[in-house]
Amino acid sequence: MSARDIIAIAQEMDAAGFAPSKSGNVSLRTAQGFLITPTGKPYVQLKPADILELDHDGRVLRGKLQPSSEWRFHASIYRARPDANAILHNHSPRATALSCARKSIPAFHYMIAIAGGADIRCAPYATFGTQELALHAVKALDGRKACLLANHGVIALGADLMSAWTIAREVENLAGQYLDLLAAGLKPVILSQAEMRRVLAKFADYGRA
Ligand SMILES: [Zn+2]
Repeated sequence: MSARDIIAIAQEMDAAGFAPSKSGNVSLRTAQGFLITPTGKPYVQLKPADILELDHDGRVLRGKLQPSSEWRFHASIYRARPDANAILHNHSPRATALSCARKSIPAFHYMIAIAGGADIRCAPYATFGTQELALHAVKALDGRKACLLANHGVIALGADLMSAWTIAREVENLAGQYLDLLAAGLKPVILSQAEMRRVLAKFADYGRA
């Protein structure tokens, strides 16, 4: 796991249309803090030397560019979540659309369990780049591996970059299905808490969640 892996995932995220206007960022835990993508540089142009290393207080340990403006929520999540070794943030279109209604995604489909619980919460709104947003994100992620950020986008985390990326893609897929249901005027049938507990137990068995 290295700067090259971060760039590969960031470029995949961009190619998937999840990072309009150079939005989004990718980070990976290190012994001293975390590696993170810089702000302002197109993902296609990123070189390993452009990836910064920060400590958990935001001090730059390595790198010459400015870190992503969202380094605060990455730092706060790594402090709060020993299980998180990689964090992805993006503005994937359909999940972001849902975030603008400030709606959590309920268990309308069993795959909601991929995010670790019976729903995917939407964190309250705060200005991008602020510590207030970081606090909201940590709370919305409690017991979860993904959340929406109101009027903003998505955060996904995982034990490694590929797990976080898999979850981010599934959140976008689920958000799209949920929006399609609502747009069709259909009322989603929400799975019970008991059923979601069964699904979560099966995911744990398969090592998928
Ligand atoms: Zn953002």
